[in-house]
Amino acid sequence: MADGRTFDVVVVGGGPGGYATAFRAAARGLDVAMVEQAKVGGTCLHWGCIPSKASLHVAELLEEVERGPVMGLDLTLNGIDGDELAAFRHGVVDRLHKGLVGLARQRTTLFEGRGRLVEAGVVAVTGPDGEEQRVEGRHVVIATGSRVRGLPSIEVDGRVVQTSDDAVHFTEAPGRAVIIGAGAIGMEFASMWAPMGTEVTIVEALDRVLPLEDADVSDAVAKAYRSRGIDVHTGATVSAVEVDGDVATVTIDADGSTTTLEVDCVLVAVGRAPRTDDLGIDDLLDDRGFVVADAYGATATDGVWAVGDVLPTLALAHAAFVEGFVVADRIAGVDDVVPVDHTHTPRVTYCHPEAASVGLTEAQAVEQHGDEAVSSTTVSLMGNAKGIIAGSKGFAKVIALRDGPGVAPGATGEVLGVHVVGPHATDLVAEGALATSWGALPEELGAISHAHPTLYEALGEAWMSAAGLPFHVH
Ligand code: NAD
Repeated sequence: MADGRTFDVVVVGGGPGGYATAFRAAARGLDVAMVEQAKVGGTCLHWGCIPSKASLHVAELLEEVERGPVMGLDLTLNGIDGDELAAFRHGVVDRLHKGLVGLARQRTTLFEGRGRLVEAGVVAVTGPDGEEQRVEGRHVVIATGSRVRGLPSIEVDGRVVQTSDDAVHFTEAPGRAVIIGAGAIGMEFASMWAPMGTEVTIVEALDRVLPLEDADVSDAVAKAYRSRGIDVHTGATVSAVEVDGDVATVTIDADGSTTTLEVDCVLVAVGRAPRTDDLGIDDLLDDRGFVVADAYGATATDGVWAVGDVLPTLALAHAAFVEGFVVADRIAGVDDVVPVDHTHTPRVTYCHPEAASVGLTEAQAVEQHGDEAVSSTTVSLMGNAKGIIAGSKGFAKVIALRDGPGVAPGATGEVLGVHVVGPHATDLVAEGALATSWGALPEELGAISHAHPTLYEALGEAWMSAAGLPFHVH
């Protein structure tokens, strides 16, 4: 037992879900312990979102260099120093990590080691030296995250056949790569490596890239990828990978025909699985290993809660943040805590062009409300000054109900979904999230001044068009 003291909350896992729960609980005046077996910050900070964004920033600069001549710039790229690239990436991660550890030490009692629930309110923590100590809490929050999912027929060797855990630390982009899976990870690695000279082939089992996004988003992104020379195969699977030395021979099956490709790297990016084994919570898991919990993160066992990738919700850091805040507020006894509703959680993919969305896709809206009840308005970024300067081919698309209370003639009702493709789409979607969360009408949003010239004007234009008052658009 730690100092013979019983904490209010013991959080197992120090990734975004865990530290969001811990920091909010501390802000609510609770005595908090946080247990982390590797590094505070978790997958997002050390193996995912942050290092990949640092590399993507470099890739973006490379694309700008390539576009130089159209802006009168005569630039020559002399090469990429892989060690310096890795140092830049590491520097970003390290700075954030130090800050986060500082906050964690200030606000929680931090235990280094692997936690396991051994009895009600007792977490056994096995430290790096193998020593075990018991940490007691009135509440225990499971925030142990996820691990990469593999494919049964493909052996990952961490060298020629990699997952994002390996690839994120690359110093030299591969010469030729097959990326299996066109979800966020696959699409981001393609955008990262292609400008560094990699011949990229993407193989996606479903019929489009970014299959969870609106169909127009998938089409626009796939078109942009193909125009940059990235080979995109949809409705296709990899049936075999044979490694010989430094080369893999990859067999791709699509439409009844088979192609083989020789590459230097195969990246398996087919999703993530919850890390919930051997935690002492088997009775709380569904058949896929996810923790079963309600919209407040409460499990069937009193005093045991769950947040983040262990839940079958969106596997996104900011989804975990919200889940953590709600759990902490419930534990703290805050009145009227609003349960988590991921309808309003933005989805952001840092591919090039970026894709971001919130709420329903057009197909989901039509399925839920019927074709007649749904309106769709798309405004191209090709008429947007900043979009033209950035060489963008993106758009902003607003899905709304055709009618509703207080809706003016010719205007549309409640905003159901917002989809943005183009530069800084992942930032622009913020306005969409405010719109869907607050239930604002397009007419009200269109009346708000949007600075000019900006990229987010595209949303202002979309609101006005959806309100039947188009401005710069046809
Ligand atoms: P994902 O589930 O988003 O995408 C995996 C893709 O692989 C899917 O499109 C799926 O159809 C495809 N697939 C599955 N099996 C296949 C097969 N045998 N052959 C070909 N294709 C196959 O998973 P991911 O891209 O690995 O990302 C993991 C998680 O991390 C996701 O939840 C993702 O949202 C999250 N993530 C988010 C971001 C971001 O927000 N920017 C970035 C990276 C990862």
